Amino acid sequence: MLDYVDLESKLSSEERMIRDSVREFVQNEVKPDIADHYVEGTFPTELITEFGELGLYAPNLEGYGLPNVSERAYGLIMQELEAGDSGLRSMASVQGALVMYPIHAFGSEAQKDEWLPKLGSGEAVGCFGLTEPEHGSNPSAMETYAERDGDEYVLNGSKTWITNSPISDVAVVWARDRSSEDTPVRGFLVETDRDGVTTNKIDDKLSLRASITGEIALQNVRIPTENVLPNVKGMKGPLSCLTQARYGIAWGAIGAAKDAFREAQDYATDREQFGQPIGGFQLQQQNLAEMATQITLAELLAHRLAELKEQGNLRPEHVSMAKRNNVRMARNQTRVAREMLGGNGITTDYSPMRHMANMETVYTYEGTHDIHTLVLGKDLTGIPAFD
Ligand SMILES: Cc1cc2nc3c(=O)[nH]c(=O)nc-3n(C[C@H](O)[C@H](O)[C@H](O)COP(=O)(O)OP(=O)(O)OC[C@H]3O[C@@H](n4cnc5c(N)ncnc54)[C@H](O)[C@@H]3O)c2cc1C
Repeated sequence: MLDYVDLESKLSSEERMIRDSVREFVQNEVKPDIADHYVEGTFPTELITEFGELGLYAPNLEGYGLPNVSERAYGLIMQELEAGDSGLRSMASVQGALVMYPIHAFGSEAQKDEWLPKLGSGEAVGCFGLTEPEHGSNPSAMETYAERDGDEYVLNGSKTWITNSPISDVAVVWARDRSSEDTPVRGFLVETDRDGVTTNKIDDKLSLRASITGEIALQNVRIPTENVLPNVKGMKGPLSCLTQARYGIAWGAIGAAKDAFREAQDYATDREQFGQPIGGFQLQQQNLAEMATQITLAELLAHRLAELKEQGNLRPEHVSMAKRNNVRMARNQTRVAREMLGGNGITTDYSPMRHMANMETVYTYEGTHDIHTLVLGKDLTGIPAFD
């Protein structure tokens, strides 16, 4: 894959080994079938436990049998998965950063012992319920609520656009606790086989088709008070999870762009028109030069984020800048790659259009491009412009 300024030389031997093994796995186990899954709108569920065996869920967390790899290695894993398909990276991001991370950071010892090993191995699947039908970019206006009743909580509300909800064993549901005076947002671990939980699948997506998305409806769902994440209250809970996941997205999007670049570069040297390879025309060389430059700049930002994260100096605003820039880059460059493939570029025989369509979701979820613009605007001026 493209590495124009030799970022390879910055990797430790362990990071290289991890990157290579995930690359090989994606090449052999994912690429042959992923376009079919995309067309069918299915996720290759046999990969769920295989991801676990490879240690791809929350690989940067410590304890509970988790690999505790470097933040750069974690980023490289996300990049390799998304070079296969954004649906694969979404599976690993949600399970690792949005389900295991909050349990690891804010859970009780009993919750960690119960869930982290099962989620880490892929024996159990989790989902993250924050978005609601009427509240996407502004989740703090959420309507889903919990009320204490003796040693139980009763939950009511609905969540939508929830990755993996129809195949999940447990949902981390963010809801307002109406039993406390200031109705703080709290995280509730809701087993999906409880009475009152339904998880309908959303079928009509034109993007991220190789990923299962659904709703979560909660009607008088009773859970024991031990299922509340005890160590966080307020929007800090879900937002800190999103920072972890967005860090992975900032890396992952580069993988999609690199895979599209590789296809375009190969095609440009093979495909002949007017008696020569199309890569011999200046217009196509400009496309390749711009793609390679934009991918390289995005990758440099991702590598710097890894250093800041290792040092404990990574701010959510840094992650907003990288998510915003790198996904926009991938959205633009996958489209250029698609264009360079001419008519063949709109088929599933080549990856760029699949990546391009996926990027519409990635541009929107985990904070839309606009919302990250506002996050940066506030950081740079001190003036919030959200409402
Ligand atoms: C395939 C997929 C999977 C997803 N997975 C999950 C998941 O696992 N868990 C989960 O909780 N959520 C998930 N989401 C939801 C996702 O995070 C939301 O779609 C996203 O936050 C945007 O919310 P919305 O769709 O309601 O759009 P809206 O918030 O209604 O935004 C619509 C448009 O208005 C713009 N806008 C909003 N506010 C402002 C403002 N203040 N200023 C300027 N422009 C503004 C937005 O940028 C956007 O362009 C997923 C979404 C998709 C598509």
